[in-house]
Amino acid sequence: MEKLNYAFFVDFDGTIATIDVCEALVLAFSREGWQELNEKWERKELSTLECARKTFKLFKSGNPEDFLSILDEVAIDPYFRDFATYCRERGYPLTILSDGYDCCIYQLLQREGLKLPYYANKLLFTPQLDIETPYSSQSCDLCGVCKLDLMEQLKKQNQKTVYIGDGYSDFCPAQKADVVFAKTKLYKHCQKVGKQAILFKNFRDILLDFEKLSGEGIK
Ligand SMILES: [Mg+2]
Ligand SMILES: [Zn+2]
Repeated sequence: MEKLNYAFFVDFDGTIATIDVCEALVLAFSREGWQELNEKWERKELSTLECARKTFKLFKSGNPEDFLSILDEVAIDPYFRDFATYCRERGYPLTILSDGYDCCIYQLLQREGLKLPYYANKLLFTPQLDIETPYSSQSCDLCGVCKLDLMEQLKKQNQKTVYIGDGYSDFCPAQKADVVFAKTKLYKHCQKVGKQAILFKNFRDILLDFEKLSGEGIK
């Protein structure tokens, strides 16, 4: 029997990074008013692009150095490295799909010495802050990075998709993935819509549960 192949798609903020980097930037630099914008985004009344542009208008600093200094404080899941190694050794592609910003992901992966493909929005310091959304979709005008679209484009025919995430931007791709690992808002959402999802706290949980599920057993 041919061995099953898996392709992993992983959210960044709150999943690989232990906090939401976009939220940390907003907390550090935005004047009042961003909460309302964020709630509208969560209710899908604003697209990622519109929400980001309106939020940037509230920012007190648009200085790249200030932004990068916030990233120094951001930790990544303590078991993510083991998880990435596990995927590499078995030839399972691992792709980061983020509705956050490319420079934040680049900076953190660089710091951690991790080389992984990622798809995210582009943050521009022009010097006014702005966002570009090169991975938005024709069929969906809400996402900056349309994770569902990318997942369906990137997955090969013989691969089962495994989606790992925590938040609103993960709802669509999780719905279509073969296996879902979820926490917080995404987990609640999956329960609500009747999509099977495995609850996780960190990437060690995912490794152990995935090994059971894929029939490899725990070594
Ligand atoms: Mg997230
Ligand atoms: Zn979308």
